Amino acid sequence: MKESTANSDLKDPTTDLLCDLIRRASVTPDDAGCQSLLIERLERMGFACETLQFEDVTNLWARRGTDGPVLCLAGHTDVVPPGDLSGWNTDPFEPTLIDGLLYGRGAADMKSGIAAMVTAIERFVAACPDHDGSIAMLITSDEEGPARNGTLKVVEHLKERGESIDWCVLGEPSSHERLGDVIRIGRRGSLSGMLTVNGIQGHVAYPQSADNPIQRFAPVLHALYDIEWDQGNDYFPPTSFQFVELKAGIGAPNVTPGELYARFNFRYSTEWTHESLQQKVESVLDAHDIDYELRWHLSGEPFLTKPGRLIDAVSAVVLEETGIETEQSTGGGTSDGRFISPAGADVVELGPVNKSIHKINEHIAITDVPQLSTMYEKILKRMLG
Ligand SMILES: [Zn+2]
Repeated sequence: MKESTANSDLKDPTTDLLCDLIRRASVTPDDAGCQSLLIERLERMGFACETLQFEDVTNLWARRGTDGPVLCLAGHTDVVPPGDLSGWNTDPFEPTLIDGLLYGRGAADMKSGIAAMVTAIERFVAACPDHDGSIAMLITSDEEGPARNGTLKVVEHLKERGESIDWCVLGEPSSHERLGDVIRIGRRGSLSGMLTVNGIQGHVAYPQSADNPIQRFAPVLHALYDIEWDQGNDYFPPTSFQFVELKAGIGAPNVTPGELYARFNFRYSTEWTHESLQQKVESVLDAHDIDYELRWHLSGEPFLTKPGRLIDAVSAVVLEETGIETEQSTGGGTSDGRFISPAGADVVELGPVNKSIHKINEHIAITDVPQLSTMYEKILKRMLG
C-alpha cells in the first residue's frame, strides 16, 4: 500500500522536517538548502548561527547560551548519491511512506537524526528556557566525501578562538535491529598503505635476467597476514588488516612485470597508534629482500569515550524509552567523532537503525522518528535541565 507523504498527513513535526530535508537533494558536498532550513528554526529559539564555508563545503555552528558546559548535537546534511535509479521503488528525493517505512535517500543516514535533534531542542527550550550551559549544533555538508572541509575545519576554527565542546551526541545511525539497541562510544582508527614493489621487467623465458616483483611480494603478503595484530581490548574488537588491491603485469603472457602495486587498510584499536602500525609494517618489509616505496594515508586515529555522565545519560534514556539495555560499541566505519573527540569532548553516537544506509531503497521505520526525538530531548534534560 502506498500512502501520501504530503507533510500535513503525517501529523508529526519531526517527520515533517525529515520530509523537507529529504526533498533537498543534498549529495556531498551540496547542502541544497538544508542548513538554511535549520538556521530558520534555530534562530527562532535564540541560537546564534554561523555559516562556515570552507571551499565547496557548507558548515553550520549554532549555539544557544554563552556558558559552559557545551552539549553539542552534531551531524551531516549530505547524503551519498542514490546510485542506479532503476533499483529504487520510489523517487529517492521524494519521501514516500509504504507500510510503515519512510523511503528516501538520507532517511536513516542521517536526516532523521538531524530532524529529531531540532524538534528535541524546540521542546526542551520551550520547557526549560533557562537551561544550564549551552546547547550547540555542528552540522556539515561533507561527512560522506573527503571530509577535509567539514567537521575537522569547524573544530579547528572553534579551537582557534578558544571555544570548546564538552559533550557531543552524534545522530549517526548506530542502531542495529531496533532503535537504541547499539550506541557508539568510540570508533576504530583507519590507516591505508600504498605499496610499490620494484623489479626488473623481462622475457618470461629468461627469468634469470629479470626480477619478478610478484615472486618477491608473495612472502611479504604471507608475513603480514600471519601477524596477530592484537586481540582487541575491553572496548575494541581486534585490529583488522586487509589487502584491498593488487596489480602487476602488462597484460602479455610472455612478459614478467617490472613493478607491483598493492594497497592495504587497517581498522585498528587503541592498542596501536598510526605511528606504531607504520613502524611494524616497515620492519616486516625491511626484513624481506625487496626494493619498495610505501605511502601512507591516515583517515583517523581511534577514539574512545570513557564511562561517565554522557554515556550514563544516553544509556539510561534508551532503557527508559525502549526497555533495551543498549550495547556500547566501537564497531563500524569511521565517523566525524574522530574530529570532535580529540578536541577533548566526550562523544556518543545514537541514531536510527543502520541496515539500509547507503543502499538502494534507504528507509526508516516511521515510528522511530518521533521516538528518536524524544530520546534526544531526554538527554538534553538530563545533561542541561
Ligand atoms: Zn552518516
